[in-house]
Amino acid sequence: MEKTTNYVFITGGVLSGLGKGITAASIGATLRARGLSVTIQKCDPYLNVDAGLLNPAEHGECFVTKDGAETDLDLGHYERFLDIELTQASSTMSGRLLSQLITDERAGKFSGKTLQLVPHFTNAIQDAIIAAGNGSDVHIVEIGGTVGDIEGMAFLEAIRELAGRVGHHRCLSAHVVYVPYIGTSKEFKTKPAQNAVRDLRSWGIMPDVLFVRTETPIPESAAEKLSMFAGLPRNAVMLLPNAETVYAVPLQLQAAGIDQLIIDHFQLKAAPAHMQAWHDLVASATTAYEQTVHIGLIAKYLTNEDTYFSVIEALKAAAWEQQVNVQITWVDAQKLEEEGVDSLQSFDGLLVPGGFGMRGIEGKIAAARYAMDHAMPYLGICLGLQTAVIAGVRKAGIEQATTSEVDVHAEHPVIYIMEGQQGKESTGGTMRLGDYVCRVQSGSLAERIYEATEITERHRHRYEVNQAYRQQFEQTGLRVSGVSPDGRLVEMVEHVDHPYFISTQAHPEFRSRPHRPHPLFRGLIKAAILNQTQARPAGLPLL
Ligand code: GLN
Repeated sequence: MEKTTNYVFITGGVLSGLGKGITAASIGATLRARGLSVTIQKCDPYLNVDAGLLNPAEHGECFVTKDGAETDLDLGHYERFLDIELTQASSTMSGRLLSQLITDERAGKFSGKTLQLVPHFTNAIQDAIIAAGNGSDVHIVEIGGTVGDIEGMAFLEAIRELAGRVGHHRCLSAHVVYVPYIGTSKEFKTKPAQNAVRDLRSWGIMPDVLFVRTETPIPESAAEKLSMFAGLPRNAVMLLPNAETVYAVPLQLQAAGIDQLIIDHFQLKAAPAHMQAWHDLVASATTAYEQTVHIGLIAKYLTNEDTYFSVIEALKAAAWEQQVNVQITWVDAQKLEEEGVDSLQSFDGLLVPGGFGMRGIEGKIAAARYAMDHAMPYLGICLGLQTAVIAGVRKAGIEQATTSEVDVHAEHPVIYIMEGQQGKESTGGTMRLGDYVCRVQSGSLAERIYEATEITERHRHRYEVNQAYRQQFEQTGLRVSGVSPDGRLVEMVEHVDHPYFISTQAHPEFRSRPHRPHPLFRGLIKAAILNQTQARPAGLPLL
């Protein structure tokens, strides 16, 4: 018999940036720890169709799912906390639903009826929620933005209606609010949170749980006040002061009783909680280890800490596993171009992450060359593979080697748009997205790292390595160590006379987990540790 899915809706009040995504993911983690099956979804009221074209400096990283959906970075939190792989169904943006509605209207599917936000758009939202949750015990739905945003109104109406459609007993509403501390009067102020609850009620939604975000722990009297104003029992007001690490939030929520509250609300049967893995993770994430490795992240965007979120989480997870601290320094790629690469010698390892456009690319190529020539551990991700290949071809004597992304008429397009892709370069829809299989060369570093000869990784890029230049870059010690099953696409490139120089056309960071770091990141951290503690044996791989 098909399972009956129950729905937990998470909305936010007072202000944005409260960590609603982490809260949603953490609730999921506590339910998974009780043996329940959990699905999760982000509803973003933006009018965009997906996150592919959003500026990372403004919105943070674009997370890619295995089926190639370009999504909000909250999907990354969900995957890491729930240790599951999500799909397009878990990322719903207004633009996607609206453009489908308009396409249907143009095709005459509404037979002359007026197309309206209510009920057509709100029904489309409900259908998307029901489809995403199908088959799980609990489906968690995070509504982006803050209650009161004009864009979000249809979503609130949709979840209100959905409770009528599936039954109120199958829905639970959780509201995340903020309680500020006023330094001058030395008080926590609950008024904005009270107002936020009232705003939610004005949409016909009564919260069942209130999550109270604060900078520091609040006094019991403030919690009681909120309980009274929200009309909730005290145990449904859950306090979430800033945690030492985000991975402590599932423990905070479990201690506050969220899993049991949800289980009771939906009358579910569940196993006792297994939170040991989270205790262990928090212990390793908060330990100050004896050794610290320094990784230079050669970055283009420096203003928003969320831009390389998954990359940073993957580095941290690898460092915790190896029991070292990792200090990640963001190196401005453009500065490397202008000021030279000498500053890179202070690092134990370098990472060139993915990126688009020409700004900073010469700095990234210079960083790859520096790593190549100085036995500096290097992990190249997507653009970081392309810059390594360009650096190799230039080293072989073709100084003009570049990527078509920078110069469409380049004389030596070492990275290019493959036949069949030409003419579609401009915007979305032309990229290699999502899971692709890679054959790993036997005897390669890649094979030793992955301990496999066939791997699958997620992609998000438009350009490919031009194999016409393979001979040139292989002269310098670089080797193609992974290709697509048909051999046409270069997937991995490494250096044979180097302690650790490896790059991938894919984005391994999306598959890394806090409890289970991705092997390529583990390799970089291990190489960085050895780089620090041993004299570098030239020509001898360290791993
Ligand atoms: N800009 C490059 C491409 O489109 C690399 C993309 C990336 O690093 N994600 O191929």
